[in-house]
Amino acid sequence: MRHTGIYAIVLILLLSAGLLDAVEARQKASDDNKVDPGISRLIRAVDPEQISKTIFYLSKDPLPYRKLNLTLPGHQKNTLYEADDYLAVKLEAWGYRVEREGVRVQAFRRDTSKPKHAQYSAPKPEDPWYTAYNLYAEKKGRSHPDRIILLLAHKDSQSWIDSPGANDNAIGTAGVLEMARVLAEYRSESTIRFLFCNEEHTPWTSKTAARRAKSRGDDIVAVFNMDGIGAKTAEETAAGKKTNVTAYTEPEGRHLAELMGDVNVRYSIGLQQRTAKRPRPGDDDGSFVLAGYPAAVVNIGSLPYGDPDYHGEGDIPEKCDVENAAMTVQATLAAVVTIDREL
Ligand SMILES: [Zn+2]
Repeated sequence: MRHTGIYAIVLILLLSAGLLDAVEARQKASDDNKVDPGISRLIRAVDPEQISKTIFYLSKDPLPYRKLNLTLPGHQKNTLYEADDYLAVKLEAWGYRVEREGVRVQAFRRDTSKPKHAQYSAPKPEDPWYTAYNLYAEKKGRSHPDRIILLLAHKDSQSWIDSPGANDNAIGTAGVLEMARVLAEYRSESTIRFLFCNEEHTPWTSKTAARRAKSRGDDIVAVFNMDGIGAKTAEETAAGKKTNVTAYTEPEGRHLAELMGDVNVRYSIGLQQRTAKRPRPGDDDGSFVLAGYPAAVVNIGSLPYGDPDYHGEGDIPEKCDVENAAMTVQATLAAVVTIDREL
């Protein structure tokens, strides 16, 4: 009888321990789905008007292009340096210190025998060399300053053709700039770094940025490349679709892509959000994958890229879906702050 009593007590303890585990598991699951009011506030601060102004400034007036081999009549600096100055002035006004990292590059030559979107061709060694700058700004993390979340976009327009490069990629540049504005007052646990690089001159300056980060031993836990956010096929645009594809290369990137899907639902952002696996590292996120940072993704409006004006003169700001870009910025912000707080 006494033994039975002890067994009963042990059984009750075991059962209640199991029950507690189950309760904790449920609590954890609901925490994962919980709306964080701080994140909701941040994403409400995203302003499509700011994004639009930046896109028009960088791809129409006063800067029709952003390239090292084009200086506007009567101006002292080429259009890419003028774009750098615009970004730096904005960032500094919000309290960031801007660092410039020079990289020797060339403009691409143009091969008109190739399809319009792919007319870039390798320069000759005797073609002019220029210094292109990676622009950096960052917020130091309070508790984990060595843990870095990187937000980047290429800011240059196509060096081989007179394309305004509005969707490719004034829009992603404007998106990263908007995240810097919204996050200026946010007290982050990790360091959040912003990088404005160049991918339409050669070599891509993100390659230098990624290699130098690795050689310094930077602990970059997530890379979000914003390129062509909201850009899609003419049919999808006409149908009013708001789309984003988060493409990853490695399993660590897949985790970020899935997080983009989660926050899109959790914060009712309303994107048609999907993930895709890149067959190999590509674009500026690929530069980081190749340097040894596998948690790297690109946010892009469509994949394969559906913009009919891709790399053409018709890639103008009037055709940008600013509302779509703002939604992608909201989802990316929500993902970034979620990662910042998961310590
Ligand atoms: Zn691009």
